[in-house]
Amino acid sequence: MRFDIITIFPKIFDSYFSESIIKRAVETKKIRIKVWNLRDFTKDEHKKIDNKPYGGGPGMVIGVEAFARVLNKIKKPKSKLILLSARGKQLTSKIAGEWATKYKNIILIAGRYEGVDERVKDIFKAEEISIGPYVLTGGEIPVMAVVDAVSRHIPEVLGKSESLEEKRYGVGVPVYTRPEVFIYKNKKYKVPEVLLSGDHTKIENWRIKHKK
Ligand code: SAM
Repeated sequence: MRFDIITIFPKIFDSYFSESIIKRAVETKKIRIKVWNLRDFTKDEHKKIDNKPYGGGPGMVIGVEAFARVLNKIKKPKSKLILLSARGKQLTSKIAGEWATKYKNIILIAGRYEGVDERVKDIFKAEEISIGPYVLTGGEIPVMAVVDAVSRHIPEVLGKSESLEEKRYGVGVPVYTRPEVFIYKNKKYKVPEVLLSGDHTKIENWRIKHKK
């Protein structure tokens, strides 16, 4: 899978993608990530990419022209184009899994300010995707969430134990580790007895029952 990310803040991605599972997935070539700075595709001498909204109102809108240039360069007929947007369809683990099998290239657009000129979506057939019912300052965190959620469904991105747990029980199983008893403000917090029992059937049933 190759992820192409279009943003006006390319440095935001450096830290997250250079740690842990995503770092390993890049190093082992299970995924590739390329970040494109939208400002490199503007012809404006001051690298300006936004403008006032038609019809008035506060804030600025990122214009269509620089997007057209970068998408003309990178978008292939089979690329999946996603515009991160608070009003989009909400991302789920199921959708992430489907994309991981269906596509080899996902292009992600991170919006900023009041958003992206509507014509980007119309001309380039972008799907609007939200990561939750709240408004963030920019699309960079949503882009990272999509890359992470999709990558977890790509074979061998997760280690064996990590992927097994999710496949067996689904998401949201409560987990505990040492110590068996933790005392906080004179109160004892114990690990559920069943998890110490060694009885695998009972443990499995408990996990399924307590899944959120
Ligand atoms: N007034 C805009 C609206 O109603 O959609 C808010 C734009 S928001 C401040 C700037 C950018 O952040 C958006 O263009 C989008 O890319 C991103 N964004 C904000 N919340 C998001 C969410 N929940 N899911 C995905 N992207 C989001």
